[in-house]
Amino acid sequence: MRRVLLIVMMVLAAGCSGRGAASSQGAPRPSATPSQAGGVVSLTFDDGLARQEHMAAELTTRGMTGTFYVLGTRVQAPGYLDQARLARLAQAGHEIGGHTRTHARLPELHPDEQRREVCGDRSALEAMGFTPRSFAYPFHAVNAAAEAAVRECGYNSGRGKAGVAAERTTPADPYDLNTPLAVGARTTLPEMQQYVLAAEQRKGWAILVFHDYCDDCGPLGVKPAVFTAFLDWLKGRPVAVRTVGDVIGGETRPVPPLKAPSIVLNASLENYFGKEGVPDCWQLDGRSGKATFGRVPQARTGRWAVRVQVTGGDPERLRLAVKQDDGECAPRPGRLSVWYTSTVPVRFTYSTRTADGVWSRWSHSPEFPAAPTWRQATWTPPRDGAANVSFGLVLTAPGQATFDDFALR
Ligand SMILES: [Zn+2]
Repeated sequence: MRRVLLIVMMVLAAGCSGRGAASSQGAPRPSATPSQAGGVVSLTFDDGLARQEHMAAELTTRGMTGTFYVLGTRVQAPGYLDQARLARLAQAGHEIGGHTRTHARLPELHPDEQRREVCGDRSALEAMGFTPRSFAYPFHAVNAAAEAAVRECGYNSGRGKAGVAAERTTPADPYDLNTPLAVGARTTLPEMQQYVLAAEQRKGWAILVFHDYCDDCGPLGVKPAVFTAFLDWLKGRPVAVRTVGDVIGGETRPVPPLKAPSIVLNASLENYFGKEGVPDCWQLDGRSGKATFGRVPQARTGRWAVRVQVTGGDPERLRLAVKQDDGECAPRPGRLSVWYTSTVPVRFTYSTRTADGVWSRWSHSPEFPAAPTWRQATWTPPRDGAANVSFGLVLTAPGQATFDDFALR
């Protein structure tokens, strides 16, 4: 009897030290609870589409909860769930998780862009009052660097590769949770049931992926009749339906402190999810009837460049510059460069931020000549011990210019 007690105590001690080691690395330690012994199903919903509100309601009426992976920059956009609706989902017990700011393909990005997409997005969701613990990689695109970013940004899991019927309830890699292929318009009820039955048989975890909800809205739109029939069937199965965050468990970890990027984020001006079509991580001042701004397809690289046009007034008032923030977008200082075409001479405008957070007034570089074809302007501002820099290019006379591919070295 004493011996049994001793063994029990040793096992308990080993369990505790194991958990301690895991939390010191900041990684969660998933554990199957008794209710998961017959297998688990997680219903996950991507991109925060507006019609998912109806899917959530169908879950709620059946006493189920799901995980909604949303994009921070689209929360207020038409066709997407807004903050109030997401808050209602959270109140009903559904989980709000992260999915990057702009639906980014993370493995292709510089680590600083990854931090912006994952940590910046998680901060934004927290500022809206949510506590995201779970993350899903857009396009199921995952590699070691993307996993490292998701872990560093404080998420407890990342939903990754598709094509695996049943994940383990104690996943080998919580930052690459495997799923069956996304459920779409052509997925049949028996196919959806098969995913659940596979999890039941293997005592595993089926993480189902849904997007839109309608009778005819594209390849990823699930038909309401099929979805509700599936939920009714699922309710009678011996599997637990749980959110991803609940299966993984673990504390909510903080978003790490800001680290000023070493590069210009969104440097090729490709992401436009901010207000009034201003590129993400950029700010626009001085727009008027005589000073216009817009993206154009005459790009040097990528899909878009930015065009500014001034017909009167002070031409330097129209200024597109790196966002003057506290280091989420504003990079560390260095040598500035940009590619441009212009009908008039241009010059850099720049402002620096001290370590205690004060932005300087705008200063200017020498002029660069008008250029009918793409030309690179480079210039190094005086070193003044600044922590961050913001910069852009301005016209020195009424005219038109196109910018692309800003950089910092
Ligand atoms: Zn997505």
